Amino acid sequence: MADNQANGTPILQVRDLKMHFPVKEGILLRTGKFNKAVDGVSLEIQPGETLGLVGESGCGKSTLGRCVTRLYQPTDGRILFEGTDITNINGKELMPFRQDIQMIFQDPMESLNARHTVGDIIQEPLVVQKIGDKASRQKRVKELLDTVGLPARSVTRYPFEFSGGQRQRIGIARSIALNPKLIVCDEPVSALDVSIQSQILNLLIELQKEFSLSYLFIAHDLAVVKHISDRIAIMYLGKIVESSDGETVYREARHPYTQSLISAIPVPDPHHKTERQVLIGDVPSPINPPSGCSFHTRCPKVMGECSSQQPNLIPLADAEEHQVSCHLYS
Ligand code: SF4
Repeated sequence: MADNQANGTPILQVRDLKMHFPVKEGILLRTGKFNKAVDGVSLEIQPGETLGLVGESGCGKSTLGRCVTRLYQPTDGRILFEGTDITNINGKELMPFRQDIQMIFQDPMESLNARHTVGDIIQEPLVVQKIGDKASRQKRVKELLDTVGLPARSVTRYPFEFSGGQRQRIGIARSIALNPKLIVCDEPVSALDVSIQSQILNLLIELQKEFSLSYLFIAHDLAVVKHISDRIAIMYLGKIVESSDGETVYREARHPYTQSLISAIPVPDPHHKTERQVLIGDVPSPINPPSGCSFHTRCPKVMGECSSQQPNLIPLADAEEHQVSCHLYS
């Protein structure tokens, strides 16, 4: 059992995190406004746990993932990895955490250097971290290829010679090369055919069991995160609006936004009719989010106070683990 598993410390704690990007305007490119991509998010992930983070395109979920991996320097808030604050550390101080926290990207073709061989791509993290010599790194690459279900002869080939699913396996091999503890999976199956999606999800589940990994699994599709997530958080316009364990979110969603996402999941049984809750209007701009509850411009249950008062994410009275940000429950 990992030390932090034994002492109850979460592998990841995110506290009131904000990532506001300055927006340059006018011919002088002055900064007057900010894109509030992440606007006060708090969450935790326990060792060996998968948190599914779901929301429409542009809700800030990928930005949050990039803050957690410290590809972005957050504007405000805190990120704690195994209890250590890594929010503002950089350079050499950050290097050990770069081993422990890895990322899998959505588009394997874009995230893999097309001019490098698969062997070079997978061993790159080992080279950057100055781990092992040439022979030991080559041995490790072959082990990793075997772990993700690719033949050893792949080492001398290039990414374009592989299918989308195989390329994602290469990306996964690279992400586990340093034996990380936490992997941010940023829409890892969104670019793949449905039949290949389940193979990659099963591979991630197997790797999690084998290496005691924790995942922050980002997706825009609730159906995709269903089988892999222990808990699910729903994000809308830079904020989490609902979170609970996976089963509860699917069966007892309370927030009107979550309910609309669930109603959009296709049901394979033709006799089972579900009422689709189609949202009106587009997602508002995070540069100028609506006042009060940011969902009030599209919410089918909007009430008078919704446009002026921002609801807090609070536990439901009858279920502490189930948190919802909506005036219907406050
Ligand atoms: Fe809808 Fe109001 Fe709840 Fe927001 S607070 S989700 S607008 S009912």
